[in-house]
Amino acid sequence: MSNAQEHIDKLNQEAENQTEVATPADIPEGKAEAIRTKEGDPVRRVVVDRQACIGAQSCVVVADGLFKMDDKNLAYIDDPNAYDEDMMLMAAQSCPVLAIHLYDKEGKKIFPEV
Ligand code: SF4
Repeated sequence: MSNAQEHIDKLNQEAENQTEVATPADIPEGKAEAIRTKEGDPVRRVVVDRQACIGAQSCVVVADGLFKMDDKNLAYIDDPNAYDEDMMLMAAQSCPVLAIHLYDKEGKKIFPEV
């Protein structure tokens, strides 16, 4: 198993095990998700829909360190706390297929707007 996959599995597991941030009902399968712990930041859960990701890499260009590409050219979350809310939103907005989903503490979707 690649290091990227191990990292994805670890962050997915941490996100599933935590109890502080509500779990939304619409988390995609084939996800890479992570919980943010930045104080005062409304974005608490970041999810990459890896089945939707087309490897365009704009998320990595905007927020390198928060997102990375694996050896299948799919994005995953490296460090969910690497950037502030604005950069996080910009990275999500840059995704041509809207594969990056942002949620607040109550599990309400912040982006993309529904
Ligand atoms: S911008 Fe979207 S499609 Fe491109 S790598 Fe990131 S998540 Fe995947």
